[in-house]
Amino acid sequence: MVPDVSFSLEDKSVPSLISTENIKTAVGIDVGLKEFLTTNTGETISVPKFYRKSQSNLARKQKKVSRKEIGSNNWRAAQNRIARLHQHIARQREDFHYKTAHKLVRENDLIAVEDLNIRGLARNTKLSKSIYDVARGAFIEKLNAVAVKRGIHVIKVSPHNTSQNCSNCGHKVPKTLSVRTHSCPKCKTVLDRDENAAINILNKALNEVGIILSACGGLGVSQPVFA
Ligand SMILES: [Zn+2]
Repeated sequence: MVPDVSFSLEDKSVPSLISTENIKTAVGIDVGLKEFLTTNTGETISVPKFYRKSQSNLARKQKKVSRKEIGSNNWRAAQNRIARLHQHIARQREDFHYKTAHKLVRENDLIAVEDLNIRGLARNTKLSKSIYDVARGAFIEKLNAVAVKRGIHVIKVSPHNTSQNCSNCGHKVPKTLSVRTHSCPKCKTVLDRDENAAINILNKALNEVGIILSACGGLGVSQPVFA
């Protein structure tokens, strides 16, 4: 039999995006400070403990090196230990990002996220905040790369009012970052702040691709969400 060359070439190429009418599952995610991410169903993925542990280990090592005489052998050895730990942390973070991305792509046909580039401009530009956004941005990039290989949609939406607006009735409920609960005075909806944001993010994305949510259907991650 003559091998089908055109087929094998096609096989290696990037799959096309799932067509809109074939999207059966969708998730909105809010990347946050308290949890690494929160979905529209309230599911959370925390920053792993081993990663936090490495970070406090790093802080300890940095304190130690500051007590050494600059240029001494001890100082150099301490610097080397810090460099190795930095590398270790970077690998751990990379691994965690990929695992999280693969899980989301496995479970969903469409993933809605905030466009962090817009967010950087819209929110305050304190240094700690921008470092946080860079890390989140790195995750979104990986999520995109993983999704493209599977034909899964990643829709980036404007973060404008995603945390302020009520995901149930649209009423604007202003809240500072320290307010962790969304409590709507108009429709009495009470939700975790990040969950409320994740629902708004999902709704924006579905709106963008022209999908209408079923009136009775939940926004379940694993259930069909469309009429
Ligand atoms: Zn409301």
